[in-house]
Amino acid sequence: MAELNPSDKYAETIHPKLTKKLKIDAEIRNLWSESIHRRDQCQTFMKTDEIYDFIIVGAGTAGCILARELIYNVPNVNILVLEAGPPDAQVNDKVRLPCTFLSNFRSSETDWGYYTEEQRMLSTMEPIKEVINKGMRYPRGKVIGGCSTVNSMVYMRGQKSDYDSWAAQGPEYIIWDYGHCLEAFKAVENNARANPDEEFKKYHGFDGLLHVQDSPNDTYEMTKDFIKVANNLGIPCNNDFNGVRQNGVGKYQYTMKDGKRISLADSYLADALKKVEKYPPLMPLTPAFGGFAGGVAKVVAVNVKSFSQMLGIIWDEENEDENIAIGVKYFCNGGIHNAFIAPKGEVIICGGAVNSAQILMLSGIGPKNNLEACEIKVRKELSVGRNLLDHPLCHITGKVSIPNGTNDALIHSWCCGIKLGIHYKGNVEGKIPSKDEFLDERPDFQTYVNAFVFEYNIIQSNISAFTLATVLNCPSSVGHLELCNSNPFMQPKIFLNFYEKPEDMYRMISSLKLLREMLKQPPLSTVWGVKELGFNDEFGKWCIVGDEMSDEDWERYIREKTSSSFHTCGTVKMAPESQGGCVNHRLQVYGTKNLRVVDASIFPIIPNGNINAPVAMVAWRASKLIEEDYKNKF
Ligand SMILES: Cc1cc2nc3c(=O)[nH]c(=O)nc-3n(C[C@H](O)[C@H](O)[C@H](O)COP(=O)(O)OP(=O)(O)OC[C@H]3O[C@@H](n4cnc5c(N)ncnc54)[C@H](O)[C@@H]3O)c2cc1C
Repeated sequence: MAELNPSDKYAETIHPKLTKKLKIDAEIRNLWSESIHRRDQCQTFMKTDEIYDFIIVGAGTAGCILARELIYNVPNVNILVLEAGPPDAQVNDKVRLPCTFLSNFRSSETDWGYYTEEQRMLSTMEPIKEVINKGMRYPRGKVIGGCSTVNSMVYMRGQKSDYDSWAAQGPEYIIWDYGHCLEAFKAVENNARANPDEEFKKYHGFDGLLHVQDSPNDTYEMTKDFIKVANNLGIPCNNDFNGVRQNGVGKYQYTMKDGKRISLADSYLADALKKVEKYPPLMPLTPAFGGFAGGVAKVVAVNVKSFSQMLGIIWDEENEDENIAIGVKYFCNGGIHNAFIAPKGEVIICGGAVNSAQILMLSGIGPKNNLEACEIKVRKELSVGRNLLDHPLCHITGKVSIPNGTNDALIHSWCCGIKLGIHYKGNVEGKIPSKDEFLDERPDFQTYVNAFVFEYNIIQSNISAFTLATVLNCPSSVGHLELCNSNPFMQPKIFLNFYEKPEDMYRMISSLKLLREMLKQPPLSTVWGVKELGFNDEFGKWCIVGDEMSDEDWERYIREKTSSSFHTCGTVKMAPESQGGCVNHRLQVYGTKNLRVVDASIFPIIPNGNINAPVAMVAWRASKLIEEDYKNKF
């Protein structure tokens, strides 16, 4: 048989193989991009004119709920959701696993990568001396689902009095009292507690889309002993921190379903994307996505664009004095695009407490001095960024003498099985809280019992130990943020101001003293041989000297070890303008038209607990306000 020449050989043998391989590659690529765009399926509707009834900026906790509630409850609207981060389908396999939550914080794929500023302030114990609060990594979810895609999933709402104080700001604020908020908490929630009793049913919802469940694993042995120790000290049990009272010791509920994270993108946004209709139904489709006219229909749907970062608000320059928002400018695919709102439409900023404030300031709304220093035209002077609230967190570590004592626990806790909560009131003089303070139904401390060690949010898996992380849930100190220039891609400067007020320091000391006391109690000290870890021992840090610690030592310790709970809120405060408010009770930005902010930034006062559920509650309430206003417009 004649020898094939090289080109024939290629045609007969290699080429088909290569074609097959390329075909497989292409199939894989298709599958990949299909999965990426599963959530972005409505992108196909993105055509020439971008006109929408609602433009939602940020697909985080609030943005996802708003999109879903508005698309189903306001007739015949179309909605654009802009999200700076990637689709969560791209990162989903990882983020769904509860055990990845600490590594999610540090992932550049899903995080804005913020750092807080180092701050000098006067020492609490020696007020003539200057001390330093170190700058810290400050994670914020940059992904569809926002922080709900990367958070620690603890389901907690705060206390009745938190919301009653929101409502106490004026008669019109009554729509934010606990009664109204409870209705919203329940509407959003889908609680999977087995055999809930009547008391539980009074406080919980079972038909919403935000999935909440008890820890999927049984409590680890040592955790049970923590409950015993807490009880012995006079701390009562609590099996529902979101029920009638918050004080006590008990297990948390999580925003999970069947042991997996359910972000707001998995629940609310996914449901919003199911609605794709034409209006009017019998008309042919308009080539443009927005507005319908001349006998053609518009698409009634939510159009989600990931990797799309809003740069600023487009104002109606013909009516300059009125500050009428008519659209947004955003960056996507290497270019700048505009999207506009239809006549009854609104721009709704849901960028989270750092970014919403930044977006407003970049658009000319904020403190005059800061804007002028950044050469930004001031359209409306408001205290944007001034009321930055957050929960400081500090921890102590206990070493277990039994070899591998917490190794099983590590595995369990990675499935969120053993995070135990202890809620009590701290002592304002820095003493160990008394029994009365344990029984106070309005606690201000929340302690997590974690059966693993983390230093600077990094798990140390080589050591048999646990971490008691305690959070000051109603701090008096208030931080702020400010722009450093007019570049929308630069992070604002974040000043947390932790422990600026002495009472915060004293209360934190009191909480840590209590936790130290717990470690000395049997059966922790006897059965488990628990010993507090000094810092020289394992981590090469400075050491707590013996048992004796003065309040000065505690202050040094606290300033060195404090982190945040990442419950950033309050920077676009809902309050009367004269009280530093930036939005009114209906969340409309003062001195503007067609512009609202709906997310954690509107909290006037920080709730006494984790804040994902409160943000969800705010978004649901806001959807009702927006719906009402839309229906009442001309
Ligand atoms: C690490 C961590 C752990 C936490 N743990 C818990 C917990 O266990 N329990 C709990 O209840 N709460 C927890 N929280 C807090 C809670 O998850 C958040 O407070 C809440 O999700 C905030 O919701 P949001 O809608 O205000 O903002 P986000 O969820 O942050 O959403 C804002 C969205 O807007 C996008 N965005 C911002 N700027 C722009 C722009 N210019 N253009 C387009 N898109 C933009 C962002 O990328 C983001 O997706 C945690 C938070 C963090 C960061």
